[in-house]
This record gives sequence, C-alpha cells and structure tokens, in this order.
Amino acid sequence: MRVVFIGPPGAGKGTQAQRLAIHERIPQISTGDIIRHAIRSQSALGKEFKDYSDRGALVPDQLVVRLVADRLAAADCQHGFVLDGFPRTVPQARALERLLDDKNMPLSAVILFNIQETTVINRLSGRRSCEKCGHSYHILYDKPQKEGICDIDGGRLTQRHDDREEVIADRLKVYQEQTAPLIAYYQASGILKYIDGEKAQSEVESALAKVLA
Ligand code: ADP
Ligand code: AMP
Repeated sequence: MRVVFIGPPGAGKGTQAQRLAIHERIPQISTGDIIRHAIRSQSALGKEFKDYSDRGALVPDQLVVRLVADRLAAADCQHGFVLDGFPRTVPQARALERLLDDKNMPLSAVILFNIQETTVINRLSGRRSCEKCGHSYHILYDKPQKEGICDIDGGRLTQRHDDREEVIADRLKVYQEQTAPLIAYYQASGILKYIDGEKAQSEVESALAKVLA
C-alpha cells in the first residue's frame, strides 16, 4: 500500500497515519516530523527549517523533496508507505510522481481528510506533542493517562511552537493557497478518496480502512 494523506493542519493525518502504519506494517513518513527532528538537532539545515516552521510557512519545495527522495530510497519503503503531510504543493506532487514513476511504484490512493476551520482551531490549540517521540495527544479528545506525560515513553508533552493561536491563521491561509490545489490535481488522476475528519478517531480509522480495502 502506497498512500498519501492530505488535509488541513489538525485534520488527523498524523494520528491516522500512525495507526495505519502499525496495522499495515509500513513506515509513516511525516515530513513535519522529519523537519522538527532536524530543527532539534540544530544542524545547519535545521536552523533554516526553523524559520519557516515557526511562521507556519512551507519549507521550499526542493529541500523537502530531497528529504522525501532520500527517505523513499530506504529499504523499509519498498513494500509500501504512508506519506503524511507531503506533498503540500503541486510542484511537490509532480516531483513525487516522477520519483515513484522511476521506481515503478505508483500511489494506491490519496486520502483527503475534510474538517471545518473551527475544528482546525480546536484541534491545534489543544494538541500536545511528546518532546521525545513526537506522539500527539489532545487536552480534550485524546488525553494521556498522566497529564503532561507521554504514555509511550514518559516524555514531556508540550505545545508545538506553530500550534499557537497567532500562527494557526497563517497555516490555514498557506493550506488554502498552496495545498488545496492538490485536490483538483489528484481528482484528475482518479485516486483521490474523501474521509470525514470530523468524526471521532476510531470512526475515522474504520472509514479509512473501508476506503483502502
Ligand atoms: P495533523 O497531522 O493532520 O496535523 P493530528 O493527527 O496531529 O493532525 O491531530 C491534531 C490534533 O487533533 C491532535 O491533538 C489529535 O490528538 C487530535 N485529533 C486527531 N484526530 C481527531 C479526531 N478524529 N477527533 C478529535 N481529535 C482528534
Ligand atoms: P506538519 O507537522 O505536517 O504540520 O508540518 C509542520 C511544518 O513543517 C509545516 O508548517 C512546514 O513548515 C513544514 N513542512 C512539513 N511538511 C512540509 C512539506 N511537504 N512542504 C513544505 N513544508 C513542510
């Protein structure tokens, strides 16, 4: 299975990608996670990424395409993958198509998670992420067993810098202007499927399983 998840920030892409990856035994490739990891490592590239990420802007296409090309070349991706948060622009989608054509590995499906703007704000403002493993929780909808502590590895839960209210509006604008054109792009290729991301996590998971069956 080779799938792409698209949708506004907070739509549940990461939550569902993690579940699907475990279920299907395929890697979850989250460009957001890769970028945050580079930022934490304080590498030269990480410092460049931080400026974009903090503002809710997209990292330039050629940088993110290179990250994905390297990741897709790894052995664990040869039997499938779930791409979460990539592509996010039409040029990225074209680059992905070229990469996968070269490997003779076409996409099985592109899943669009639909949610309303008010839900985006609720989801992002309540999201808390583990400093160690990046796993996401929500202060209302997906609480950890112990407040502020990750169930998986005991890491501290913090709010992502780009989940602050003042950045959310910019991220929504970036989504509308740069990522939403992907809907028409993938509609034209006939592999786009829609999921109602407003439902509870377990319901979204079942709907996704049906769509991918
Ligand atoms: P994305 O990867 O699309 O930005 P996430 O999967 O990180 O979104 O989800 C954003 C926030 O919303 C997280 O705090 C997560 O726990 C919560 N969440 C995810 N799916 C749902 C859902 N179906 N209902 C309620 N909250 C959800
Ligand atoms: P995410 O975790 O998917 O919400 O991504 C967090 C941030 O990482 C985004 O706001 C961008 O700055 C950057 N990012 C993630 N994926 C991409 C992508 N495909 N293209 C450009 N920037 C990205």
